[in-house]
Amino acid sequence: MRRTALNITTLKTLLVAIGLAYSTIAAAGITLVQDVHVFDGTAGHEHRSVLVRDGVIVDADYHGPAPAGARVVEGKGQTLLPGLIDAHVHAFRHLELPLMFGVTTQVDMFTSVPIMQELTKAMREGRNQGRADLFSAGTLVTAPGGHGTEFPITIPTLEKGADAQAFVDARIAEGSHFIKIVMEDGFGTHHFRSLDAATVKAVIDAAHRRGKIAVVHISTLANARTALEAGADGLAHLFPGTAISQEDADSLAQLAKAKHAFVIPTFSVWESMAGIKASDLLDDQNLSGMLDKEERAALDTTYGQTPQPALLTAPSIVTAALRKAGVTILAGTDAGNGGTQYGISLHHELAKLVDAGLTPREALVAATSAPAAIFNLGKRGRIAAGYKADMVLVEGDPLQDVKATRRIVEVWKDGESVNPLRAEQRRHVAEEAAPHRSQALDLPFEGRISLLKDGKLASPFGTGWMPSSDRMAGGMSDVKLDVRPGTETDGGPGAVMAIQGQVRTGFAFPWAGVAFVPGVSMQSVDLSAAKVLRFRVRGNGKYQAMMASNGMHARHAVSFDAGAQWQEVAIPFTAFTGVDPTAVNMIGFNAGPKPGDYQFEIADVRLVDR
Ligand SMILES: [Zn+2]
Repeated sequence: MRRTALNITTLKTLLVAIGLAYSTIAAAGITLVQDVHVFDGTAGHEHRSVLVRDGVIVDADYHGPAPAGARVVEGKGQTLLPGLIDAHVHAFRHLELPLMFGVTTQVDMFTSVPIMQELTKAMREGRNQGRADLFSAGTLVTAPGGHGTEFPITIPTLEKGADAQAFVDARIAEGSHFIKIVMEDGFGTHHFRSLDAATVKAVIDAAHRRGKIAVVHISTLANARTALEAGADGLAHLFPGTAISQEDADSLAQLAKAKHAFVIPTFSVWESMAGIKASDLLDDQNLSGMLDKEERAALDTTYGQTPQPALLTAPSIVTAALRKAGVTILAGTDAGNGGTQYGISLHHELAKLVDAGLTPREALVAATSAPAAIFNLGKRGRIAAGYKADMVLVEGDPLQDVKATRRIVEVWKDGESVNPLRAEQRRHVAEEAAPHRSQALDLPFEGRISLLKDGKLASPFGTGWMPSSDRMAGGMSDVKLDVRPGTETDGGPGAVMAIQGQVRTGFAFPWAGVAFVPGVSMQSVDLSAAKVLRFRVRGNGKYQAMMASNGMHARHAVSFDAGAQWQEVAIPFTAFTGVDPTAVNMIGFNAGPKPGDYQFEIADVRLVDR
């Protein structure tokens, strides 16, 4: 039993590493940041001392001695800012990554409902340390076949003339913090069906009837005007264009002003569309050195095939016009899209807003107090007594040069330093970049890794086999693992693992099954001597084989069917897309993610070269 407990701890550690589980470290304690320049969310103050206790800023202008037990941080020559807020992301992965770059809150414009619900619950229960907070629109409101339906998740859509109030109420029941509406006719040669003006207005009115903000995705001047006329609280983008008349820009700005609407220009994603990479981020080792290969690859790409910088002319001119008219501008990246990355891209967006005419102070407001107020995010976005201790300490003065936000000294989330996570991320990136020194493990006899020893489940190497469910990550699924000897006719030699899983909702990716950990503790193991995962199975439905590598940072599941008769399944390692066979951390067989009761048996698991 002791061994099992150890194994579960190992697995839990691995899960924490990939952000499936959340940190349970509490007791953030007392921190005093001393003699620091403070940007409080609206203005700068020299020589302040800020006192934090149990995750909350208790005094933003503290004059007393350091309280007993306080960690004192010298802030001379540095600036303390509120944790940054990205007002436009799609947060379906990398939930810990924003923190590495000082982004402590994300406003999400469309993600899967279980992810939204899991984060909302964790935040409500005060256990969302170690990853960015999320306020999400959940499922967006789009037409059948509209933008948002092209992704591999099935979403409800709104037919013309259908009951907009019922649709909005269903989103609110799911937990949507605000309502996101799509007006999109297409990009390039790709055409979408779009909601028409009357439906957009009906949805906006329905949201307002429930006290919810309605944000409209647009990508043309015409749709921007229509959305504002319909009463949108804000625009989720501006629009690309090689030219726009000053008259059109000013007229749109006046309309937005008259309607008290805000605008999130999202230069970062428009640059990607225009074929322009954020080379300033990629070239800045201090920043992009925090991204692993996969995370960097997403940033080091563009949607547009050829660079067309002229397409940024219209959003730049309109942003300047909005500023002149006094319209609230928010900093949002559309991270989750190609050419962007969570957290890091916000620093690029801040620079783009300044290029478009905002002062550094205005750009910082657009990424702190303004989105917090607009989106009703509670006590965040300011360095002030009673506010959440989400903070970033940077070298220099970003009110003079906004790029100073990139020189991060320390990040706090809920009063807890994120620097240990930042150090862990740097270690992970360095390890990945180092020449591979490990040696391929010799495969065991016939490749078999599911053994029976003294009537118990065993393996020829590694930590071995263990039951595995999302319970260890806070989910509700249960699993029962029984082991018996196999015969030649019954699953082959070695152990037969009989798995009973109750997969329950309550976690973003529910699962219940059995896992094999090939390394001792968290070590990766080079299994490249094998090319294929072979096993025998019988069951009553659809299951998943999962493989994870590189400290669980890369992982992929492959579905397989199993019926009442034993059958052999062979999955080539190449089917586990993105997983590195020279650095494997886990192989698993799971029921889920669809909720339900599952039974299946796995036997004769082998790692073979063909
Ligand atoms: Zn978006």
